[in-house]
Amino acid sequence: QPALEIRDLRKTYDNGVEALKGVSMRVEEGDFYALLGPNGAGKSTLIGIVSSLVNKSEGEVRVFGVDLHADRSQAMRLVGLVPQEINFNMFEQPLDILVNYAGFYGIPRPEALVRAEEELKKAQLWDKARKMSRTLSGGMKRRLMIARAMMTRPKLLILDEPTAGVDIEIRRGMWKTLKEVNAAGTTVILTTHYLEEAESLCRNLAIIDHGRIIEEGPMKTLLAKL
Ligand code: ADP
Ligand code: ADP
Repeated sequence: QPALEIRDLRKTYDNGVEALKGVSMRVEEGDFYALLGPNGAGKSTLIGIVSSLVNKSEGEVRVFGVDLHADRSQAMRLVGLVPQEINFNMFEQPLDILVNYAGFYGIPRPEALVRAEEELKKAQLWDKARKMSRTLSGGMKRRLMIARAMMTRPKLLILDEPTAGVDIEIRRGMWKTLKEVNAAGTTVILTTHYLEEAESLCRNLAIIDHGRIIEEGPMKTLLAKL
């Protein structure tokens, strides 16, 4: 059973923009998968639909066999999203950010505290648990975004341009965290417009342009073609 299966997905926004024009793709459980494409290709729209933030126009999306349309709440529990913009409250502490996020998903506080410690340690932020988030470095803030998404123990983690606009040191730190998340069994999908990033992290990728997948397959096969 694939982690994600999309069939003929279409999205037309209210203003008439056809962001997705019939996308089909399949991501196997345990994969590290990249969605590579230029700005405006439809990447954010696609992952917005998979993480239930955007309504599709047509097509079918299944997450671990669960039909997004038929059982949205169950599908939502399987997916964690790391949005492109840092959107936690800079005046809260990392520990509170994680615990409150878990509370929003109905996870009881004692369990949330256990998970928060675990995730902060994995993200190498445990020593920052009680600092004001505003004081964290750019890289630490990015890793906190990943830790927060992991609080619900998603089976599929999706990241929207996780390293957009960050320098190489921060990027490497995030790659390490993401490799560990994937090695621990979580399927990871990220969007990027850096080929280098896709190359160093991902086993499989799709190239999307103008709302269509123009290439899909193993990283190695596609690299040979480029
Ligand atoms: P990205 O960096 O993913 O390409 P954009 O800068 O295109 O993001 O979009 C930022 C936000 O604005 C997103 O929430 C997107 O849905 C929204 N947006 C993008 N293009 C339009 C548009 N033409 N009309 C309305 N909203 C848009
Ligand atoms: P990417 O993430 O690859 O940059 P997007 O999915 O953000 O691409 O955008 C795909 C197309 O849809 C673009 O033409 C963008 O302007 C448009 N778009 C994105 N969000 C919206 C929105 N909320 N309303 C209208 N058009 C949008």
